[in-house]
Amino acid sequence: MNATTEKRVALISVHGDPAIEIGKEEAGGQNVYVRHVGEALGQLGWQVDIFTRKVSIKQDEIVQLNQNCRTVRLVAGPVEFVPRDELLEHMPEFLDNFLKFQKENNITYELVHTNYWHSSWVGMQLKKIQGTRQVHTYHSLGAVKYNTIENIPQIASQRLTVEKEVLETAERIVATSPQEQEHMRSLVSTKGNIDIIPCGTDIHRFGAVERQAARAELGIAPETKVILYVGRFDPRKGIETLVRAVNESQLRGDDDLKLIIGGGSTPGNSDGIERDRIENIINELGMNDFTTLPGRLSQEILPTYYAAADVCVVPSHYEPFGLVAIEAMASGTPVVASDVGGLQFTVVPEVTGLLAPPQDVAAFSAAIDRILLNPQWRGKLGQAGRKRVETKFSWDGVATQLGELYTQILQQTVKEPALASK
Ligand code: UDP
Repeated sequence: MNATTEKRVALISVHGDPAIEIGKEEAGGQNVYVRHVGEALGQLGWQVDIFTRKVSIKQDEIVQLNQNCRTVRLVAGPVEFVPRDELLEHMPEFLDNFLKFQKENNITYELVHTNYWHSSWVGMQLKKIQGTRQVHTYHSLGAVKYNTIENIPQIASQRLTVEKEVLETAERIVATSPQEQEHMRSLVSTKGNIDIIPCGTDIHRFGAVERQAARAELGIAPETKVILYVGRFDPRKGIETLVRAVNESQLRGDDDLKLIIGGGSTPGNSDGIERDRIENIINELGMNDFTTLPGRLSQEILPTYYAAADVCVVPSHYEPFGLVAIEAMASGTPVVASDVGGLQFTVVPEVTGLLAPPQDVAAFSAAIDRILLNPQWRGKLGQAGRKRVETKFSWDGVATQLGELYTQILQQTVKEPALASK
């Protein structure tokens, strides 16, 4: 490894642009992940270029995120939003433009960290073309996701093939929880190298706002019981389960109950359709007077919402990791979550919150009530959650682990011929 390339990595996140607004359409956890990982690695002295797809002519080609970290937008297909299930056909163009960028800038990336399956395809081609080393994070596994949805998209078989190939050929796969690793082994392949490095959160921002101050800012009375959801409007997120669970709560009818469902949407798009569906259920159940849907919540205002809440609910049918759970915990707010995927890793039942079977309205209702009806216990759960996030899920810690992994892989690159000659 020579000195100039020593600490350089390209993160490839085709549909997860780190420099756009988070919390609507298909912009969620992956965008947050690549941005924070990129910035934190930059602070550790890595030269980080995050490659994503340009979706509007108004977008700059290059956005500097910090001194060592920038977003690079490449053209691949029409310069507009394209649903992720339709992106694969544009990946050869993405690859060509990546190679062109390398040439024009006199850079050859020895290491790429790819995110989500289309990006993994790009990484695998780079390996074939120029021997690039590849680290991959799935963010979502087709093999798990397709078990939880009714309409399997046409792209499914190609996705499953690509996801198997990258597991077997990448230098390293980063699973974000032991549960995800187990799914890879049982559902995808027994071959390949997997490390577990979790997602992280900003422990300085989340947790910086006092509960009282947060409530004052949002105009919520101290005695109100606040139930919070944060996330995209997507049927997989299980918002319907939450709404029905709150409808069955013992506190239903109590003047002091408040349900906040935060997340952005665009009318006519899939998230707009899901929001309309949820609003119809709220209307049918007569829950309008105590339910608010404030729309997309910026990362700046989110710490205030989490701090003001009594409980944060993550009712997903399937969740590879679930950043919202650790953001709430970092803010000292207990979490009631589905007993699935990464949520089984982040939420410790009876210690930092409670787990309930996905889509089980009665179980969610009982879990929410247990926390709301016991404020002292609520406080303890919140403190334990904060502690768990501080020790396990800070971005700095995550980036340090990733940096060590990258270094190890880059060093192996040089050692290989020597090993082969033994
Ligand atoms: N988010 C946001 N504003 C919103 C809704 C969500 O900033 O209105 C953020 C949220 O804080 C989290 C991310 O979007 O960082 C969602 O990540 P998660 O892993 O929970 O779910 P995903 O969107 O990846 O399915």
